[in-house]
Amino acid sequence: MRDKTIYSQQVLTRRLMPLGWGLLALVGLLVGLTWGALQIQIALAALLNGESVWSKAQKQLVIDLDTYASSGDAERLAGFKRNFTVLEYDRFARDETAKDHYDYDQVVEALSHDNAIREAIPTVIFMLRYLPGAPYLRDALQAWRSTDAAIAELDSIAQELQRSPVAGVRSNQDVARYRARISVLNDYIQPRSDLFSKAIANGASWLGKVLFASVLGAACIAALLWFRMARRILAGIRGSEERYRLLFDNAADGIVMVEENSGLVLDANSTASSWIRRDAADLVGMHFAHLFAESGLSNGAGAKTGTLRASDGGSRLVETQSSLVTFGDKRVRQAIIRDISERVAMEQERRIAAEALASIAEGVIIADANRTVITANDASFQLTGFSTQRLQRFPLGDTRTLPDGEPLPAAIWETIARVGHWHGEVRSRRHDGTIYPEQLSISAIRDDYGKVQHYVAVFTDISAHKANQARLERLATRDTLTGLVNRTEFEAHCSRAIKAATREHAAVVVLFIDLDAFKNVNDSFSHGIGDKLLIRVAERIQQQLAANEVAGRIGGDEFTVLIPRLDAREDAAGLSARLLLSLSEPYMIEEQEIVLTASIGIAGYPLDGGDAVALIANADAAMYAAKAAERNAFRFYLPVMHANVRRRLRLASDLRQALADEEFSVVYQPTVEMQSGRIIAVEALLRWHHPERGEIPPSEFIPMAESLGQIRQIDQWVMQTVFAQLQAWTQAGMPSIRVALNVSASWFGHPAFVEFLTRTLQTTQVSPDRLLLEITESSILRLGEDTDRTMKALQALGISVAIDDFGTGYSSMAYLKLPAVAYLKIDRSFVTGLPDNANDAAIVQAMLAISQSLGLRTIAEGIESEAQHEFLLRAGCAEAQGYLYSYPLNADEISRLLSPNPKLGKVKLQLVATKHL
Ligand code: C2E
Ligand code: MG
Ligand code: MG
Repeated sequence: MRDKTIYSQQVLTRRLMPLGWGLLALVGLLVGLTWGALQIQIALAALLNGESVWSKAQKQLVIDLDTYASSGDAERLAGFKRNFTVLEYDRFARDETAKDHYDYDQVVEALSHDNAIREAIPTVIFMLRYLPGAPYLRDALQAWRSTDAAIAELDSIAQELQRSPVAGVRSNQDVARYRARISVLNDYIQPRSDLFSKAIANGASWLGKVLFASVLGAACIAALLWFRMARRILAGIRGSEERYRLLFDNAADGIVMVEENSGLVLDANSTASSWIRRDAADLVGMHFAHLFAESGLSNGAGAKTGTLRASDGGSRLVETQSSLVTFGDKRVRQAIIRDISERVAMEQERRIAAEALASIAEGVIIADANRTVITANDASFQLTGFSTQRLQRFPLGDTRTLPDGEPLPAAIWETIARVGHWHGEVRSRRHDGTIYPEQLSISAIRDDYGKVQHYVAVFTDISAHKANQARLERLATRDTLTGLVNRTEFEAHCSRAIKAATREHAAVVVLFIDLDAFKNVNDSFSHGIGDKLLIRVAERIQQQLAANEVAGRIGGDEFTVLIPRLDAREDAAGLSARLLLSLSEPYMIEEQEIVLTASIGIAGYPLDGGDAVALIANADAAMYAAKAAERNAFRFYLPVMHANVRRRLRLASDLRQALADEEFSVVYQPTVEMQSGRIIAVEALLRWHHPERGEIPPSEFIPMAESLGQIRQIDQWVMQTVFAQLQAWTQAGMPSIRVALNVSASWFGHPAFVEFLTRTLQTTQVSPDRLLLEITESSILRLGEDTDRTMKALQALGISVAIDDFGTGYSSMAYLKLPAVAYLKIDRSFVTGLPDNANDAAIVQAMLAISQSLGLRTIAEGIESEAQHEFLLRAGCAEAQGYLYSYPLNADEISRLLSPNPKLGKVKLQLVATKHL
């Protein structure tokens, strides 16, 4: 601060210095000139003095000689001689100085005799030697020289007189003559002496004038020069002051000069006044601190930020930097106010960008134009393990290669330079050396002139994405369970093989393999075991195939094999036989030994079909034929087989229409109490009356409806029909017997099932204890975890459940313990062999014992004979169903049967309807 003050003073002093020196020179010049004039005046005075001495001596000489001539006074002669000597010395000095070489000291000595001013002697010598031709001096010297002879004559007179007799002795005549001679000489000398004196006086006067003029002139010129210099310097200072003002006013920053002590504004530039929206003049006198919204900008150096207030209420973020200067005796603070709104906004933007960069999930690396990494975000570190410092060791992109391992080509950077960005998949190396696939995008950031300044690389690890993609691709072409190709892919393989075979006139063969009774395995064990079995089957098929043969799984237990090149279709027989043999080997799965067989249908191109779909369909038809005829066999396709396939397909499409076309109906098979033979319940059984094919048994269309996903709607319809029937029966005053309903797994496990039941019970006012829901073992298996939830809900509703077809599946005791399960239905397959088949008898007895111990009621199905009836009755079976008692009957027949006055007696013996519904 202090330095600054000194510096500004120094600048001014330096600028004013020439003026000072000029003034000094002027004064020096004047002093010099005056001194010179003084010296000349002294010389003149000496000259004049010399002249007067000379003149006086000359006059006295004449007088002394004249007196001596008349009186003979010796003193007068001595006076004459004294004056003559003075005159002679002066003449000597005059004549010596005129010579080329002279003895200066002698001249000084000579001049000293006339008692003139000694200081003037050098000037006199100078003038006599160098200025003899100067105006007036020339005339004086001429006059002086002209008297030399006359003076010498006077001296000779003096000598004559000296030699002649003294006065009184000398005759008057002689005296008169001498005096006359002296007078003549005096008359001659006198005018010349006067001329000399006059010339000297005039010369002195002239020289005085010349001196005055010279001094005046020199002083004037010097003064003029000084003024000119002063003007120039002042103009320079004024110019810089104007420039300063211009700079001051036009500065991009606001500048305010503040008096340090009072804090009052002394001056403000245009920028400051425009920001504050007040004239600079208005600002003068205001307190500096009042210009800001916050106080605290008054003292101290260093940058301070604050808010500058404008008179219109606006404000502006500023940074103030102040410095102290000294103007004369005033201490002034110069405050430079800088608008930092933009900078603050930019800083904020930069902060937001930095935070966004840090929090972004993608890795981001920023490099300069030389591809040297400048910074990288956290995600980059997480993904690669490279810190920014480590990344700076190699140019951007050097840890990456193309997916094939080749280094990133220069073309990438050329593309970025041309279009501004590039993106693609690369392989990236982590810090630990591991490699991962990466989606990389690099963009160039350019300056205003289009020159690349930075590169921004954004990247993500796409390992998971790639794995998903691979999985999807696999899913699209492969069967997830067995890994064999799926239907679409198998068809594609077929098509390619057909094309090739067409060219080579060869045969293509498709084998359609279906496992016999796989459903039983699934139902009896578990789906897990079923799945494992399918995997093993796939493995066995695969083992039998040659490298060019393709195995596929195109349905649940349906496998296909493509033999792409055979000479004749019949050549596939060997492979088919081997496959059957291999597949029939027992399987050990989870310690369960499973034995199953398969049926194979064979269709060949070009004989049995021209394309993949036809070949597969025909091989399927052939497989059906094999299965129908004898299981564990293979059949070659014959056109007749196709009819069966077509029939099934048509049936499926008809089934979709059956509900809408009201082709379904419900029949009711009575259940009798074995002890009394009383009908205590009926089981609702569905019937499909096909308009063309007549009655179609549930065993045929129910599995079809299940696989078509229609069973739920069908079951719902049955439920509604049965509930309506129950209502009708109740209204007709029929005894309130129990009604059993068969429910499929997909409907039983549906979230809307319980709700539907609850609602229907409410609307129909049917008592829940009149309902029995029959669900098969295999269905429970399929339901899994949902079973418990649904069972509990049913129990809460007061509805009982019966396990249907018990013994045909997994026969788990756990099912029997489920909530709501109150009945167990012994499947017809165990009843058929009664009473003679010991196995069946033992199984039935065991089932009865179990259900007794669990408190369940048993219902035996499919009783056709008295013997069966007797056996079951004795064994303790509670209820029974079967043709022995009644076929399934329509609702009206049931109404008649249950009317208060049945025509028929004991149901068991007499109630056998004539037709099978
Ligand atoms: P299920 O529930 O075990 O029904 C008993 C089956 O045995 C019925 O066959 C019945 O007609 C038959 N049957 C009864 N007594 C005798 C007999 O003494 N001898 C012989 N040989 N058969 C007898 P149907 O009606 O063909 O039903 C077959 C299966 O279809 C039923 O077995 C049941 O699982 C299912 N089903 C029937 N109606 C429906 C329904 O509405 N919904 C569902 N989901 N399944 C149903
Ligand atoms: Mg049933
Ligand atoms: Mg049954």
